Amino acid sequence: MPAEAGILIVTDDVMPPIRPLFLLLALAAGPAPLAAQEPGLQYAATRSVDGFDMPVGKPDAEGYYRSRGLIVGRHMGDDWNGNGGGNTDLGAPVYATAHGLVIYSRDARMGWGKTVILRHAYWEGGKWNYADSFYTHLHQMFVREGQQVRRGQLVGSIGTNRGMYTAHLHFEIRKNLRIGINQGSYRKDLSNYFKPYEFILGRRQLNGGNRRVRVPINTFQLQARVVDQMGPGARRVEPPSKPRAKPDFKVDRFGEPLP
Ligand SMILES: [Zn+2]
Repeated sequence: MPAEAGILIVTDDVMPPIRPLFLLLALAAGPAPLAAQEPGLQYAATRSVDGFDMPVGKPDAEGYYRSRGLIVGRHMGDDWNGNGGGNTDLGAPVYATAHGLVIYSRDARMGWGKTVILRHAYWEGGKWNYADSFYTHLHQMFVREGQQVRRGQLVGSIGTNRGMYTAHLHFEIRKNLRIGINQGSYRKDLSNYFKPYEFILGRRQLNGGNRRVRVPINTFQLQARVVDQMGPGARRVEPPSKPRAKPDFKVDRFGEPLP
């Protein structure tokens, strides 16, 4: 349990040597336990996590079931469906799993559709850790990029991605803050992703919550990179002018663009 932000700063063993100017800035800005661990990273403040909840039927997913969980190499999150089946959950509320910062809220198109990504900081193992929660196939998005959200806050509603699927929430929690909407560029394994259901169950209440902390930002491109089938090195950025003209990649029925 972090007692004082100042103590966190000086005891975090991943910290580089503290420069007096940085320390002054950190103290002036309040708790700022993360120093620049990587040159060039940018940071923004957010509220640290006091615990994680399920993203539907808050806080315990009451009225919902998981139709699919994480399968390494194939499906890197949980699919949540309403107990009523079919499209009975279309438009049903989707909630922030924890306090955090909205780093993405837009239509990613492809197999994802409307997507919200939140960035979280949580205290565990004697240090600050970061994770992204990822909510996709949404019918509506109710938050904007840069917005601070609280645990349990409405962020969107369950959708079908323009009729591509039976309504459900595809939900991920990522370790790797660089993935964003560019899943095809990162290994689909547990070095990059958490098992969302298990992750939340193990972290319903956390110490160190409700502090002002900093999280890295701008860690991925907001424009999806489309990975085509021509092999390594064939990646390109999809032109914004015609984002739907992409016959050269596959989408499985759960929405993940395959590399
Ligand atoms: Zn899914």
